[in-house]
Amino acid sequence: MSKHKQTLGIEVEENAHRLETLQIHNMTHIDAEVLIIGGGIAGVSTAYHLASYGYEVTLLERGNLASQASGVNAGTMWPSGWGIVPDLPSTLTMGSLEMFKTLQFDLGYNFEFRQSGALKVIQTEEEYEFCRTLLLELKTKGYCVELLTTREAQSIEPELSSELLGCMYYPLGASVHPAKATYAFASAAQQRGVRILTNHEVIALEYLSDKTYRVYTPLTIFHTGMLVIAAGSWCRPIGLMLGLDIPVIPVRAQMWSTERVPIRLFHVIGAVESALEWYKDPSNRYGTPPELTHKGKVRLTRHLYGRQTHDGEIIIGGDRQLADANIPDRSGIEVNRNHAIEVLPFLEELPIKRTWAAWMPFTPSLEPIIGKIPQRDNLYIIAGIYTVGFERSPMAGKLLADHIHNIERPHILSEADPARQVRAAS
Ligand SMILES: Cc1cc2nc3c(=O)[nH]c(=O)nc-3n(C[C@H](O)[C@H](O)[C@H](O)COP(=O)(O)OP(=O)(O)OC[C@H]3O[C@@H](n4cnc5c(N)ncnc54)[C@H](O)[C@@H]3O)c2cc1C
Repeated sequence: MSKHKQTLGIEVEENAHRLETLQIHNMTHIDAEVLIIGGGIAGVSTAYHLASYGYEVTLLERGNLASQASGVNAGTMWPSGWGIVPDLPSTLTMGSLEMFKTLQFDLGYNFEFRQSGALKVIQTEEEYEFCRTLLLELKTKGYCVELLTTREAQSIEPELSSELLGCMYYPLGASVHPAKATYAFASAAQQRGVRILTNHEVIALEYLSDKTYRVYTPLTIFHTGMLVIAAGSWCRPIGLMLGLDIPVIPVRAQMWSTERVPIRLFHVIGAVESALEWYKDPSNRYGTPPELTHKGKVRLTRHLYGRQTHDGEIIIGGDRQLADANIPDRSGIEVNRNHAIEVLPFLEELPIKRTWAAWMPFTPSLEPIIGKIPQRDNLYIIAGIYTVGFERSPMAGKLLADHIHNIERPHILSEADPARQVRAAS
């Protein structure tokens, strides 16, 4: 038996053991029409949209809201328009962009949304040629992206290095404060009646003969007619509690920041280097598991993204690796900082103030999993939106709520159909 299969077996047994040993008669019982597991952006958006349809929703979060990826990500968005024929990525990103605008400008929440535009720097001739080809393809599909000379880029982002060969410019690029944005969705959901219970870790699940679920936390048992898994990088252990193998792999992403400085950066910033590497060798991108910047300990490419926050910190991120702990790897941070200095030379003057890491929920295919899980009744999932999960989950939550409410799956979600990826655990 493979190590993987053994692990699945042990975790399924553990759920059964917990069910046997829980002191059920001492526990509080609560009924919920819909129960959502996970208080990140995916869970709170789904809760908000289901409540807007009139469902009575309870959301359980193990720690605090936004305590994982949704609270500590870079908050960058790289929209390039709907395109002539909107596909799933453009629908998720553009739909989410509109929702962020609605929440901030129409409903009055402040999570520092700013449509600043975004720039991806070009550092080599090969990257430049790649961008020219890419631009042609994107323009044909109706996307809003430009190729700027270094001078043009510097005129809107003066701190960019003169050594660059140019920039891909995304005029629709934007950013938010991720924790504040997650709390804004949660607060809007609560105003529509959603019950949010933090410090409620789901420790066991039971699928009952009447196609409903019992959901166990240490002190309370919930009974629900509909269960939504929105547990980010922890979807796999949740699935195993129901005998399902949900292929979500936690990939560590790490970031660092400078101290607060007066505003010197106006756009969301990135670099083309990694995009070119992944384009050249799609096996790096679609391989299993998705180690994007490294294969084992060997570096494949340098990845770079970042921005200056409303408070003045410059936050930069890069490496994406499989790892045992969400502790930043210092040498990777140094590589990332040196890359950032190549792009923005003034960063050399600014020491690293803090570093952090968290888990991104990847699937081996890089396809998200959004919709009804076919192996059980009344079971839904929203997961696996990997490195773009913040810019895409608000709309993913709306589409999932539409799916639950209308029963029929929105056509655009076909490629995210859980039937393509979720299997029975064996
Ligand atoms: C460093 C970093 C930078 C990133 N930068 C960007 C970016 O710039 N732009 C972008 O679009 N995306 C970015 N991402 C990706 C994005 O943050 C994620 O894809 C997104 O936040 C995932 O949201 P989620 O709600 O699915 O998962 P999470 O935010 O991880 O939320 C899942 C929640 O489920 C809870 N949970 C798990 N198990 C249980 C249980 N048993 N019981 C109860 N609750 C449970 C967890 O505690 C957690 O709060 C970044 C990620 C990282 C880590």
